[in-house]
Amino acid sequence: MRPFIFETASEARRAIELFDKGGLSDAQSTVYLAGGTTLLDLMKLDVMRPQLVIDINALQRTSLGRIEVKEAQLRLGALARMAEAAEHPAVKANYPVIAQSLQLAASPQLRNMATLGGNVLQRTRCNYFRDVSNPACNKRDPGSGCAAIGGFNRRHAVLGGSDECIASYPGDFAQALIALDAMVELRGPKMDRTVAFATIHRQPGDAPHLETTLLPGEMITAFIVPTAPWTRRSLYLKVRDRQSYEFALASAAVALDLDGAVVRQARIALGGVATVPWRSPAAEAALRDQLLDETSANAAAEAAFAEAQPREYNAYKVALGKRTLVRALREAAALEI
Ligand code: FAD
Ligand code: SF4
Repeated sequence: MRPFIFETASEARRAIELFDKGGLSDAQSTVYLAGGTTLLDLMKLDVMRPQLVIDINALQRTSLGRIEVKEAQLRLGALARMAEAAEHPAVKANYPVIAQSLQLAASPQLRNMATLGGNVLQRTRCNYFRDVSNPACNKRDPGSGCAAIGGFNRRHAVLGGSDECIASYPGDFAQALIALDAMVELRGPKMDRTVAFATIHRQPGDAPHLETTLLPGEMITAFIVPTAPWTRRSLYLKVRDRQSYEFALASAAVALDLDGAVVRQARIALGGVATVPWRSPAAEAALRDQLLDETSANAAAEAAFAEAQPREYNAYKVALGKRTLVRALREAAALEI
């Protein structure tokens, strides 16, 4: 075990001060500890080696732990546990895609422990990344290469990859947030800001080790989801190797505003197939003002995967992803609202 300094904070400003004063402001050296279900895993695997760990669980007793449902928006505190949001009656009724994306993730034990803020910042499950005996991983060790590109890449991304990294983004909740145009509240050493959630994750490009646009010390305090005509007719469909306790091979977060059988607006995000939570404006455009039937749903799926770059073992994800989206659209259209 590598030694590290452990601090606790019961106030967000104090936690940020500790982060800032630690003077170790790169993403790897100082970290916040929420539920710990990603962080402790990666520390035990020796993938993450923080020198200062700041426990923020006490902030659950502040607004960071609350779920507030208002007419115009849903506010999810970053320290709320996944299970709490998944089981919240108003979230289930009015934002089903959010409740379902959380309910279909991980296991009951993990959902009781893991937080919403930690969930969106979970790191890839690429086996080469998680195994430090593999020397070639640009995400873990910039410039070292990528063992997955020419290796066993069955679980890797077909969208948003680069020649440096094709690791898929593993979470579910982020797809629901991105489909519903969520905003994220950030508090940091220099400023507080609220930005579109869609701007948080970075595609790997030539710097796969830089995964988010968060500034050093910035803490996620809440997610704000605006209420819109499509939030109630929404769902999350997840396809995986086994029925539960497994990450997505392909998933779709879909939200529809229908006029009879005609699509006024569609919101579509894809999981399991891309390097980041993946919104598909092309699929949404393919559906706008169209009768929602097999033909238009298939056209949307074709548009969503038009830029896909399959590799040796993950080509099946293109067909699987398309079918997942078509089925999600069909099921969302059939919902009785
Ligand atoms: P932590 O481990 O505490 O933190 C994760 C990261 O986020 C750390 O780097 C930490 O510093 C940072 N962080 C945490 N909170 C904040 C904050 N408020 N502001 C800034 N930084 C912060 N997830 C899915 O979506 N779907 C699945 O199917 C799924 N299956 C799983 C199966 C297993 C076996 C395991 C172990 C995990 C699985 N997960 C799955 C991932 C799980 O949901 C995440 O590990 C969890 O949500 C992370 O939340 P946490 O509070 O435990 O985060
Ligand atoms: Fe590392 Fe990314 Fe390659 Fe996986 S896909 S080995 S995370 S560089």
